[in-house]
Amino acid sequence: MPPKIARYLATADLPSPCLVVDVDIVEHNFGELADAVPEARIFYAVKANPADEIVDRLAKRGACFDTASMGEIELCLAHRISPDRISFGNTIKKERDIAAAYELGVRMFAYDSIEELEKIARSAPGSKVYCRVLMECEGAEWPLSRKFGCEPDMAVDLLVRAKEMGLDAYGVSFHVGSQQTDLTQYDRALELSVSLFRRLAERGVTLRLVNMGGGFPSRYRADVPSIPAYGAAIREALLRHFGDNQPDVILEPGRGVVGDAGVIQSEVVLVSSKGGDDDRRWVYLDAGKFHGLAETMDEAIKYRLLTPHEGDETVPVVLAGPTCDSADILYEKTDYRLPATLAAGDKVWILSTGAYTTTYSAVSFNGFPPLAAVCI
Ligand SMILES: *Cc1c(COP(=O)(O)O)cnc(C)c1O
Repeated sequence: MPPKIARYLATADLPSPCLVVDVDIVEHNFGELADAVPEARIFYAVKANPADEIVDRLAKRGACFDTASMGEIELCLAHRISPDRISFGNTIKKERDIAAAYELGVRMFAYDSIEELEKIARSAPGSKVYCRVLMECEGAEWPLSRKFGCEPDMAVDLLVRAKEMGLDAYGVSFHVGSQQTDLTQYDRALELSVSLFRRLAERGVTLRLVNMGGGFPSRYRADVPSIPAYGAAIREALLRHFGDNQPDVILEPGRGVVGDAGVIQSEVVLVSSKGGDDDRRWVYLDAGKFHGLAETMDEAIKYRLLTPHEGDETVPVVLAGPTCDSADILYEKTDYRLPATLAAGDKVWILSTGAYTTTYSAVSFNGFPPLAAVCI
């Protein structure tokens, strides 16, 4: 538990559950990554946590911002972040949103298909574009899978097409998968990137950018490499593959900047058992899959837990949220143990929950407005 958060929780009167973020840790994490890869421009992935205080602090610290919707772009502009520090990094955009972003001064866009490229060429003429390539995301605890990116052969054609359409074919992007702890993945991705640079050069297109996305970790139950270790792996791979012709480098951390800066304080609603052969206790918290802990889906992200009974004998538990949806179980297969003395009304602190918690529980995830409804 970060000390400043512990001190705050000891006296604050908060609703439950509640996320508390130490913005100093956010700034520290950003600075650590900036120091680890000094040649990179760092675009904070706003979706990880768009809290005003976080965006403000990072803006003051010199960050740029990766956005996915008009909501996120308008949020950044409201914080007086100039549009040349904003990229529209979603490969799936409405054409009217591309036009609106362009109107507001945004000049950098991601794409991974000819259909999207045509929209950008029409509605954001002359802009910088980068093409996202598919990655396997092996080793990532929260893979971003096949939804984003195209095959490398297609990326070559799409970047040639971008130039033909009068856009600035700036470079390539990839994302190695979120919570990526296999550092060799960046090397594989950069090897692929340099091969794309070569193939494009042969076709008369000089790329300049490698956008390496995010993937930097938070500290959940398993150990993770340090940020300096990520930096060293990335810089060695850049040197190995690009030599004297270093590209512009962009990093887009989300989780690695805000995850460890937050703690959710929750409360035990019920401790019970079901009878039968499984003698595990069921512990129901007031925070569940629909209240911030969506990344426990498939038990992918395994948060560390703290209770007021540290040191007491522990027993195996199934951990669940409070709602009447049977999917609202946090950990059933993963081995979790909690103190035998834990009872209804006790606090449970869920550590490293600064990323992808408020956003997933918000009605406007990633800056997209909530579902409208009419009754007739
Ligand atoms: C979500 C996202 C990120 C942030 O990923 P982390 O693993 O949280 O660092 C970066 N870039 C893009 C395009 C994303 O969609």
